[in-house]
Amino acid sequence: MLSQAVIEFGAPLQEIETPTPAPEGSEVLLKVHHAGVCHSDVHIHDGYFDLGGGNKLPMANIKLPHTMGHEIEGEVVAVGPEVKDIAIGARYAAFPWIGCGKCPSCLRGEENICVGGPRQLGCSNGCPGGYATHVMVPHPKYLIDYGKVDPALGAAYMCSGVTAYAAMKKVGPLGPKDQVLVLGVGGVGMMGVQFAKAMFGKGPLAADIDEGRLEAAKKAGASATYNTKVEGEAKRLMAETGGGAYAVIDFVGSEKTFAFASQSVRRGGKIIIVGLFGGAMAMPLPMFPFRTISIGGSMVGSLDDTKEMMEMVRAGKVDPIPYTKRPLSEANQALTDLVNGKVTGRVVLTP
Ligand SMILES: [Zn+2]
Ligand SMILES: [Zn+2]
Repeated sequence: MLSQAVIEFGAPLQEIETPTPAPEGSEVLLKVHHAGVCHSDVHIHDGYFDLGGGNKLPMANIKLPHTMGHEIEGEVVAVGPEVKDIAIGARYAAFPWIGCGKCPSCLRGEENICVGGPRQLGCSNGCPGGYATHVMVPHPKYLIDYGKVDPALGAAYMCSGVTAYAAMKKVGPLGPKDQVLVLGVGGVGMMGVQFAKAMFGKGPLAADIDEGRLEAAKKAGASATYNTKVEGEAKRLMAETGGGAYAVIDFVGSEKTFAFASQSVRRGGKIIIVGLFGGAMAMPLPMFPFRTISIGGSMVGSLDDTKEMMEMVRAGKVDPIPYTKRPLSEANQALTDLVNGKVTGRVVLTP
């Protein structure tokens, strides 16, 4: 099998050839048809996440070479002896956020935030992902039926889709005048607009620094848009919403977006940080009780979230996001383009 692998953190990906593994036990071998390029791949490739103030969170535990890619769709080409009822040739998306199966998080069904030893496809040490011709899935329960959905999007829903869905789920029920603000309408944020529409029955507000992306968000159903680069936009949002958004989902996660989020969230509201751009925040502690706001995070989604999300997608409740296909051999260029902000929607690699 061929992989576009990280050989050295920060250095260009390289094509490597390794023996195609044979599935054992409950394993399922997929021939990869589509692998989405996600912004977190940029950080894995760099070898660290930026924590602000010059501090970095290194990925010291990932041994190289490592194959990234956690938005995977493919075809079953071989199964282990314990696997029943999975047909060779069947097409599935692969749930990548696999945990140890034994820790307190996993036992709650929250494998995506496993504390015992995650086995995330393309993200954890020793768990190669989809920037390759083949990928091994440890158990058929992680195979997701995407029905008649475009297979390239089937792949993209495994990260950007479930990330947006699970973040929106954390908003909870809305009051009659409550508004949700999607902050950052890149690939995942656009999914956020879609799921907000499907889950709350009305378009969310959208904010971004880019007029083109705001225009796209409006076309996708955002009820109002705000350019965070423009002076006074948070004030305008406050006025137009009668005191601010009930929930702000920050799909960027930078110091600037957090500042905008805290200026535009209503009393009693919540900020949910999803994006991993990086930075740090400081806030006077009395503001938490005075404003009764809560600030939380959301990291991808659970297997149940993924199945619920895919049910909505299969039912046609979620409009597709734009994407472009590129050959696997262009993985490196695709990452570079993503870093340079040259990508609208999703890039999906095709081995
Ligand atoms: Zn991702
Ligand atoms: Zn676990």
